[in-house]
Amino acid sequence: MKLSDSNKTSAEIKALTNKYMIETYERYDFIAERAEGVYLYDENGEGYLDFYGGVAVNSAGNRNPKVVAAIKNQVDDIIHTFNYPYTIPQALLAERICQAIDMDKIFYQNSGTEANEAMIKLARKYGVDHYGPNRYEIITAFDSFHGRTYGAMSATGQTDNVIQMGFKPMVPGFSYAKFNDLDSFKELVTDNTIAIMVEPIQGEGGVIPATPEFLKGLRDLCDEKGLLLLFDEIQTGWGRTGSVMAFQNYDVKPDIISMAKAMGGGMPIGAICTTDKYAATFSAGTHGSTYGGNPVACAAAYAQIGELLERDLAGNAKQIGQYFMEQLATLPDVKEVRGKGLLVAVEFNEVNAVEIKRGAVAQKLLTTAIGSHTIRMVPPLIVTEKECDMAINILRQVVESLIK
Ligand SMILES: *Cc1c(COP(=O)(O)O)cnc(C)c1O
Repeated sequence: MKLSDSNKTSAEIKALTNKYMIETYERYDFIAERAEGVYLYDENGEGYLDFYGGVAVNSAGNRNPKVVAAIKNQVDDIIHTFNYPYTIPQALLAERICQAIDMDKIFYQNSGTEANEAMIKLARKYGVDHYGPNRYEIITAFDSFHGRTYGAMSATGQTDNVIQMGFKPMVPGFSYAKFNDLDSFKELVTDNTIAIMVEPIQGEGGVIPATPEFLKGLRDLCDEKGLLLLFDEIQTGWGRTGSVMAFQNYDVKPDIISMAKAMGGGMPIGAICTTDKYAATFSAGTHGSTYGGNPVACAAAYAQIGELLERDLAGNAKQIGQYFMEQLATLPDVKEVRGKGLLVAVEFNEVNAVEIKRGAVAQKLLTTAIGSHTIRMVPPLIVTEKECDMAINILRQVVESLIK
């Protein structure tokens, strides 16, 4: 919907938002009216370089034409029907995903946090079914982020900040170890442990890549102790880090993987994939979702993943990501540039991240601040070196102005 269709002014739309919405987000001071490729356009038609990409969602570009066409076609046939009949988009998408990441089976959800709920539920039920009623504990990492619903929030290893404070008690059965510290995980394994759950690269926690030794060590530990290895690839999945899934980069395969964000090209969808062995844990009635597997979302995801694979956008993420990170390292006041592919964070010594974010928006570049001195950028994977140069120039000006 455009402002001109609403019979409102821009100030009125903002006022309605502030009056009627429960606000938990710090908004950019413009209305997003239209989007295309790597650009978001405001109500005055001004273009912004979209380097937050709807939080790592718009990986094949905002409103990728194939995704748009798939949604329009599907809406003409069926919008929703629930999972009693077979549907064509579900079947085609299931095959495409399972073949792309070498898994046997998929279960559809509507979001990342829900995908993690399914992953946690499956692991717990497997433990209880095969080993007994106490075998349900899951070890996760400090500074992880797994979502906002109770299971995923409890799995999130951030116990003393806004994520969990005020919402306790958490779901029992989770303990937290130090990321990239294998011994810390080993120490927490008990007779009741059933799984270890990590992000291959911690996204919200500051863009911290796992070391290869750490992930390989977790795989060995899980094999030795009969534990499931669970990877949350909601942010790292679908080309973001330079391979289709981050686990392929590391050559460490999880037993269950959760995905969402970039998967649907902007439609709300998430999923877990696993092997036949673990998939057999869920049977009729044990888990479900009204919208999970919705035909429009699945048709969009089928087109989105087709684009990501056919155009090798993972390869582009790897190549452009390397260039972008090299250039970012030349900015003033930089302490560290972290990331993999086009999941990138820049930590500064002195300048404040929120001020950089605001300064960049004023110059038509969109980023996000994580923590007090770190900004994160997750542009669409179709981004070019030229657009990265434009972003660098803006950041250079903003950071220089903030140093003075
Ligand atoms: C975004 C994110 C989630 C939560 O996904 P939602 O779709 O917002 O529920 C979970 N885990 C990771 C790693 C994420 O980046």
